[in-house]
Amino acid sequence: MVEVTGGLEELEFRDLRRQYKAMQEEMDHAVAGVLGRSDFISGQEVQALEDKLAEYVGVKHCITCGNGTDALELALMAWGIGEGDAVFVPDFTFFASGETPANCGAVPVFVDVDRDTFNISPEALERAVKKIISDGQLKPRVVVAVDLFGQPADYGRIIPVVQKYGLLLLEDGAQGFGGDIAGRRACSFGDISTTSFFPAKPLGCYGDGGAVFTDSDDWAEVIRSLCVHGKGKNKYDNVRLGMNSRLDTLQAAVLLVKFRHFQEYELRQVNKVAEWYASLLEDIVGVPAIQEGFYSSWAQFTIVCRDRRERDGLQQELKDSGIPSMIYYAKGMHEQKAFSGRGIVPEICSNTLYLKERVLSLPMHPYMGRDDVRKVAEAAQRAGGKRIW
Ligand SMILES: *Cc1c(COP(=O)(O)O)cnc(C)c1O
Repeated sequence: MVEVTGGLEELEFRDLRRQYKAMQEEMDHAVAGVLGRSDFISGQEVQALEDKLAEYVGVKHCITCGNGTDALELALMAWGIGEGDAVFVPDFTFFASGETPANCGAVPVFVDVDRDTFNISPEALERAVKKIISDGQLKPRVVVAVDLFGQPADYGRIIPVVQKYGLLLLEDGAQGFGGDIAGRRACSFGDISTTSFFPAKPLGCYGDGGAVFTDSDDWAEVIRSLCVHGKGKNKYDNVRLGMNSRLDTLQAAVLLVKFRHFQEYELRQVNKVAEWYASLLEDIVGVPAIQEGFYSSWAQFTIVCRDRRERDGLQQELKDSGIPSMIYYAKGMHEQKAFSGRGIVPEICSNTLYLKERVLSLPMHPYMGRDDVRKVAEAAQRAGGKRIW
């Protein structure tokens, strides 16, 4: 059922119902196929999906798992990250990017982001690594680079830092799947890369799901074992401590259908929506900057207002017009209570502090038409008219 308000379909933040309608027949058929066979775990669709995703991303191995958080944790476990290790994480990201190293017993070191791209600052990263080395308490091990809001992190400048200090690169591509840099796809930049199939992500399933990508045969083998209770020859031969984290057959079947549409038009269409937004909003607010040669999968369309008052005023105006919006993210990672006493901030993350007061994410998905975008832009103009700008 599509809710109708004032003769117009309600504008959703990410419209999964419009998406379902666009592929309903195929989707119902795919789901019914799994129900008919009832091979709910490790059915044929799981392997088929892993093969397709690995080929698309351009890496040797794709290992699906229960969600994007487990995917990060599996990578860190495969590398044996734990007590005494420092893991560098952007200060402006979703909690899981820092939660997983902390859960492994490592210390997350929060690094400021670039104001324009929202992604980890390569300069701040190098300063943080040097600081940890000179403090001599922790061993620098991993950089978690997040492809925030759909734009790949600046790997051309991050990888040299990772290599210079002998670190490992973990690409958190939960929001970045489908993006690329000069044709090289997101989820191929890390020594291990991960993504999430949470319904609202660029490629989402109908529940929880995630995947790990790597070119390394050895790490892939360890991760396949870790996903199933540290299995050896089989599930009842346990050679290490692992977890239970699998993508089930129904979700794989859903993703196979969605992935076709994702490639055929969704990715292109969501980029079109971003262009419409940018052209209507660029004179009013700060619109996202995509670096030269970078392609975003637009997990979010996040604008930057001049100050907190303007941002909150705009959010209220949108709300009054029935338009949902979200603040991603209202706090720096280092400000989260859960990290107090557990994380380190080597220097003030002034860009995080700037952004958290000013960012606002607007409705964004491939099924938005020009009129939907115009409706949001007009509400933004009205907020401007009320002297918010
Ligand atoms: C969503 C997300 C995750 C976690 O994915 P889940 O599937 O929800 O566990 C990790 N990192 C980032 C940046 C995310 O946006």
